[in-house]
Amino acid sequence: QPPLVQVKDLCVDFQTENGWLRAVDHLSFAIPRGTTFGLVGESGCGKTVTAMSIPRLVPQPPGRISQGEIIFNGQDLLKLPATAMRAIRGKDIGVIFQEPMTALSPLHRIGEQLAEVIHIHRQVSRKDALASAGDWLLRVGIPDPAQRLRAYPFELSGGMRQRVMIAMAMILRPQLIIADEPTTALDVTIQAQILDLMRSMLDEHTSLLMITHDMGVIWEMCSSMAVMYASRIVETGPVRELFANPLHPYTRGLMQAIPAIQRDAKRLSHIPGQVPSLLNLPAGCAFADRCPHVMPQCRLNPPPPLRPVGKQHVACHLHNAKPPAATT
Ligand code: SF4
Repeated sequence: QPPLVQVKDLCVDFQTENGWLRAVDHLSFAIPRGTTFGLVGESGCGKTVTAMSIPRLVPQPPGRISQGEIIFNGQDLLKLPATAMRAIRGKDIGVIFQEPMTALSPLHRIGEQLAEVIHIHRQVSRKDALASAGDWLLRVGIPDPAQRLRAYPFELSGGMRQRVMIAMAMILRPQLIIADEPTTALDVTIQAQILDLMRSMLDEHTSLLMITHDMGVIWEMCSSMAVMYASRIVETGPVRELFANPLHPYTRGLMQAIPAIQRDAKRLSHIPGQVPSLLNLPAGCAFADRCPHVMPQCRLNPPPPLRPVGKQHVACHLHNAKPPAATT
């Protein structure tokens, strides 16, 4: 069976005061049906732009999808007319944002907003839609739905709002859920509850694309993953293999940044240095200034394209055509 989503050679550019920058650079990955895929990296690495390109939510301008294909259910979403794309959004692709207020209208009651989604796509009466919205609030763990349906978003806590957002994204049973840092704005206890809730709502018909900077979230939620750095995928593969044997020095750095509670380590460590400006990338590897394994050739030439090593793929001079150098 072909994958539900195939992103092929995607490039997304943004116009800035200082010229065009490439936010997503020749990216390819696939998400099979009923599986969970994580896209991880530091902020500014291009993961959100990649994810938002799928439902075509990248603002154009200043953004521009300049190359590539996004095959969803066998059709290239980038070639669809806007009306057909709108029909797919919500019904077949649900999006959970980091900050629910991005997606929820502050001016309308929770019940109206949920019922509207059902009413538009399912052609049921508003009364039935409202009843269904109440059922969904219960499903996402919001007690007393009759009262909550009448509430405005600002009257709910951050955790409650995120539960409403999850209900909104899942209410039409989409085939793909895109979750962009869905727990980052929440405190740790609520984070765990929201991840549990999301996991409980996934089934073999639903695929998840999880965007996060947190390897712990990837471990909890995903079966396969890609690591992004400076607009490119630097490593990809099954989560288990990648955690057991991270090949790219950046992936290893991210692993060391997993909070102690998840790693049984003494304390959190960080990758020193900063992501280079996408407007001024170095000639060689974009990670060279931060890499503990940097070699002279890394400064001169960009790393080769992703190449297979076991079940993983990695783009790094350490893993060229010759057997991989010893890893630490
Ligand atoms: Fe480090 Fe070189 Fe690999 Fe870049 S290509 S990650 S600098 S070893």
